[in-house]
Amino acid sequence: MTAEELLRTLSQVAFVVIAVAVTVSAVRRPRVATVHTAIFFALAALIISAGRVAQWSGQELPAPGTRTLLGMLVAMPYVLLLLADDFIGVPRALMASTFALFLVAAGLALIAPIPLPAAYALLFVAYMVAMLLYSTARFFIASRSLSGVSRRRLEAVAGGGALLAMALLFSGLGAAFPDQRSVWRGISSATSFACGVTYMLGFVPPSFVRNAWRAPLMQRFFAESTQVPRGTILELTTALEERMVSMLATQHAAIALWDEATGRLEAPGGGGAAEALKDRHSSIAYRAYSSQTAVFVGHAGRADPANAAVYQQFGARSIVAAPITIGERRYGVLTAYGGRPPLFADDELEVVQILANQVAILLRDFELTNDFAAYRGHQEAMRLKEDFLSAAAHDLKTPLTALTAQSQLMQRRALREPGRPIETEEVELVVNETRRMRRIVDTLLDAASGDQLGFVGQIEEVDLYALVSEVIASTSTGRTVHCEGVPVMVKLDVNRMRQVVGNLFDNAVKYSPNGGDIDFRVTADERSAILHVSDHGIGISPEDLPIIFERFRRAPSVRYSPTTGLGLGLYLSRRIVEDHGGQIEVKSVLGRGSTFEVRLPRVRRLAAAGDGAPKSRVGQRPD
Ligand code: ADP
Repeated sequence: MTAEELLRTLSQVAFVVIAVAVTVSAVRRPRVATVHTAIFFALAALIISAGRVAQWSGQELPAPGTRTLLGMLVAMPYVLLLLADDFIGVPRALMASTFALFLVAAGLALIAPIPLPAAYALLFVAYMVAMLLYSTARFFIASRSLSGVSRRRLEAVAGGGALLAMALLFSGLGAAFPDQRSVWRGISSATSFACGVTYMLGFVPPSFVRNAWRAPLMQRFFAESTQVPRGTILELTTALEERMVSMLATQHAAIALWDEATGRLEAPGGGGAAEALKDRHSSIAYRAYSSQTAVFVGHAGRADPANAAVYQQFGARSIVAAPITIGERRYGVLTAYGGRPPLFADDELEVVQILANQVAILLRDFELTNDFAAYRGHQEAMRLKEDFLSAAAHDLKTPLTALTAQSQLMQRRALREPGRPIETEEVELVVNETRRMRRIVDTLLDAASGDQLGFVGQIEEVDLYALVSEVIASTSTGRTVHCEGVPVMVKLDVNRMRQVVGNLFDNAVKYSPNGGDIDFRVTADERSAILHVSDHGIGISPEDLPIIFERFRRAPSVRYSPTTGLGLGLYLSRRIVEDHGGQIEVKSVLGRGSTFEVRLPRVRRLAAAGDGAPKSRVGQRPD
């Protein structure tokens, strides 16, 4: 066997193998595209087999047989054009004129003299080459808008068409120039072999080739999908959908999640095609979910007439839907909506299923991360509760111990000396300790009920400076306290503001165990009255600054120190100040001291003729 014969035989074997493979797939999944592909290669296989039979039998084919084969040959490029039309859409007028051309060529095959004169042969070759090159160009242009395996396969289909046209051209040249026949036959055989291989890659690519084509895109998606924002489920699914649209080169990709409560597939964002569906149980996505297999439909409107209008609205003609499932956990469905059905639907099914699996992994990850965060939050809440209970018990125990000791002493003395008058100092101690306990209990009640009832009661117009001075005067600390400032009018709940000033004062004393002056300063700017409370105490580290205004939170450094506290004072102060339309902030240097700043809306005197109320919402909680 010569090299030329070997190449010719191999290319023929390639065509027959493809014919068998595509016919099996057309029988298994009869779709327009698979049927047209099967017809194209079946024609090729029949022509090849007839030629071989004639060769082996050593007899020329009778004229009717040759005419039939010629008719089949001219039908081949027309079938390829039909395939291009299924997938890309060829203009109607062009389809009609190529059909007319095909009829003319087929008619000519019936009447042409056999064996074919060179002029006829060249005419047939010209027809075939023109038709093949046109469909090649269409496939190639269409491949540009695809990605991954589909793109490569379509490029191979286009390349195969171009090589087939060249092989025909070369064999036509061989017929036209009989003296160079063997040269053209050789070139034609080599080109047919290349065509067979290229068509194989396009129509029946081996799985290792598919995987190699798919790998870069998949790797990119996997890498990107681990980077997507995942603050909320909506953020996560939206980011994945966006990436999938570009990766699948599809019009729209949607992730719908199964909602146990409603028993339906719901879009996390509450919008999109999944939400618009009229009958959710007939939808393609639901079919994929209930069957737990990937589903492809070439014409969504026909496959699911109840939702045809919605599919039309979303420009969805072909749909691929794959279940998002991991183990026993069924999350929902990933749906890719496209225009015309893809030429290689099986590839799309595979890719969408792989993506759905990856989405399932990401959702599982999201779930686990959230579960873990909730678990950590629960642990933290438990710890805070324990800290709080021991702090509350400790805070109540101190005055209670003093109270018990004092009252027992007074009781013993009264029994011993019934006539002796009660000593004022002893009674004062009892009263003070009772007040202290009352303050603690009030604080606890405040924290429990203030959230519902609000922190602003009766509003009065007062001078903040006077109010601060009064609180300082009524508190004995044994510390040097400076208070300077200007009178500035504010409208507020006086008792609540006393509570704020008292708490800042208590903290300033409590958290400067080594002593040091405490400074109060009241100033004003255009819009606010401002109170600064500064101490030279232990200070607060920068990472603790954000937490100290939260409920039950204490800086870790004081949690195990002798200072007691419930971690409620600053929380209540912030709520009170904010409910007055103000803000509270702190600046602090660890080991040096802290300055708390309270800003409250001031009453502007100029506006007093009309309305003296501050513009911010006094007495209302901010949204
Ligand atoms: P408590 O004093 O009962 O712990 P607070 O809500 O009043 O609760 O204060 C919360 C935390 O803020 C305190 O535990 C302490 O860590 C920190 N803190 C408050 N005031 C000061 C201050 N003047 N100097 C240093 N740390 C302070």
